[in-house]
Amino acid sequence: MKKRIFNFSAGPAVMPEEVLLEAQKEFFSYKEAGMSVMEMSHRGKVFDGIIKEAEKDLRTLLNIGDDYAVLFLQGGATLQFSMVPSNLMKGANTADYIVTGSWAKKAAKEAKKVGTVNIAGSTESENFARLPKQEELKLDADASYVHFTSNNTIFGTQYKTEPEAGNIPLVCDASSDILHKKIDINKYGLIYAGAQKNLGPSGLTLVIVKKELLERSSDSLHTYLNYKVHAENDSMYNTPPTFAVYIVGLVLKWLLNNGGLDSMHQKNLNKANILYNAIDNSDGFYNGTVTNKDDRSIMNVCFTLPNEDLTKKFISEAAEQGFSGLKGHRSVGGIRASIYNAFPTEGVEALVEFMKEFKSNN
Ligand SMILES: *Cc1c(COP(=O)(O)O)cnc(C)c1O
Repeated sequence: MKKRIFNFSAGPAVMPEEVLLEAQKEFFSYKEAGMSVMEMSHRGKVFDGIIKEAEKDLRTLLNIGDDYAVLFLQGGATLQFSMVPSNLMKGANTADYIVTGSWAKKAAKEAKKVGTVNIAGSTESENFARLPKQEELKLDADASYVHFTSNNTIFGTQYKTEPEAGNIPLVCDASSDILHKKIDINKYGLIYAGAQKNLGPSGLTLVIVKKELLERSSDSLHTYLNYKVHAENDSMYNTPPTFAVYIVGLVLKWLLNNGGLDSMHQKNLNKANILYNAIDNSDGFYNGTVTNKDDRSIMNVCFTLPNEDLTKKFISEAAEQGFSGLKGHRSVGGIRASIYNAFPTEGVEALVEFMKEFKSNN
């Protein structure tokens, strides 16, 4: 087997090696089933055990109470951009959107097709290089919900605490930082996340929704788009992405077996600190792109080099040394190192060594 490289991809992203090896062991024939998980009925006993166990472990990790439903859906975070407003925009038919990046903008764009969107805050004029402060937000008292993006995958900003929304349900796109630390679920009306950054393979979308909000889902919605239908059918209204659910189940076990989310958070903070320290102590050779250091993401670390030629050289020399996925998104440029839960600390240390060498050679 070829040695594994350090994969800094923003998504689909690195998986825990223990999970890959476990899945490999069980791939051909799952436990006593005599078949692969991808070959079995989603309505059979074995898969029922797999999906129930995954939900139970998720509830344990995030301390999710019975007043919340957990849904395993498809369509990515992108379908949630539509499902959220279609189900939750009620009453005055308006919703608040805090626009902190490209994904938040796309979410707001879909909501506009359903009702009135109030842009409660935006840092677009600063190319999203920071998050709006609480006092900058102009929240609407009649809003059906307040939508925010907890981690801005492209711009490398991340909320350290949730925006305050008072009594209005908070809806969060947590696609790129779900499970990176413990959060207080009770602050949220709904959380959604595509799995492919911090949870598992693409194809699965996780939705955690307060059950009382399910009353807003109208019977006139297309059936697949209706949260209430999925909740009433335990995510089995249609065939769920069975193999992805199984892999996410293994990732959740991996988190539980490695000290849970507090321990994961410590590990994530440590990795990000190593990298940001290297950037900040480079005498200006490397520069973080986020203008307010408090807003820096510990999942996606974005920085620039002195010029475009050096950036290209950095990426190609890094690739030769086994660091992949470091090219920044075209809207920011520079370098983006995505260091999700499964990314190993050794990989960050190795990158920092490479950065030091590259700086002294150039
Ligand atoms: C990647 C990403 C998305 C898009 O997810 P899809 O699963 O491709 O639809 C949306 N929001 C955020 C914050 C992301 O990082």
